[in-house]
Amino acid sequence: MKNLILRGVVVGPVQTNCYFLKNKESQEILIVDPGAEPDRIIQALLTLGGKPAGILLTHGHFDHIEAAGELREHYHIPVYAAAEEEKLLLDTTLNLSAGWSGMPCSVKADHYLTDGEVFTLAGFEIHMLLSPGHTAGSCCYWLPEENVCLSGDTIFCQSCGRTDLPTGSMSEIRRSLHKVLDILPKDADIFPGHGEQTDAGFEKQHNPYL
Ligand SMILES: [Zn+2]
Repeated sequence: MKNLILRGVVVGPVQTNCYFLKNKESQEILIVDPGAEPDRIIQALLTLGGKPAGILLTHGHFDHIEAAGELREHYHIPVYAAAEEEKLLLDTTLNLSAGWSGMPCSVKADHYLTDGEVFTLAGFEIHMLLSPGHTAGSCCYWLPEENVCLSGDTIFCQSCGRTDLPTGSMSEIRRSLHKVLDILPKDADIFPGHGEQTDAGFEKQHNPYL
């Protein structure tokens, strides 16, 4: 990691990793998957210091988006997601917020990204890699200059996200694991939406879903 300070908090009932990507030079921060507990996230960002510049969503499930609306308003920053996830982000049944969290919630992103799109935010070059399977519009965010990938619920340490929920597909997630791990160099660090961090070389060898 060159200019990146990576921190985070674990939030909500299903222990979602909400990551903070702070640029040492610009002091700007990206917030990845603010899934719950906006007040705790704001407090943690205060401790970290710096200026939030945007919110990245890896997919639309309630446990990854529930605090996005409040943080967007609080900091006046844009929300990014894959274009293929638009429908699920807006549908409280598909995003499971109506049935599972008892707090129906939807998010309209400010920027819908296309597969392979490269954009710059908080001084980081970010590649959006569409990785359907957990949901149809799941994606990973790859920061080649930092050798870091935020993998959402696509790649877990020696596992992958479940595929039995709306728009999920086991054959798709297997394809996505191959696609993303083919793009990442072996020593790339992977930060999943749940559980511990891993790296691409380890997953190429040990992930049972490949
Ligand atoms: Zn999910």
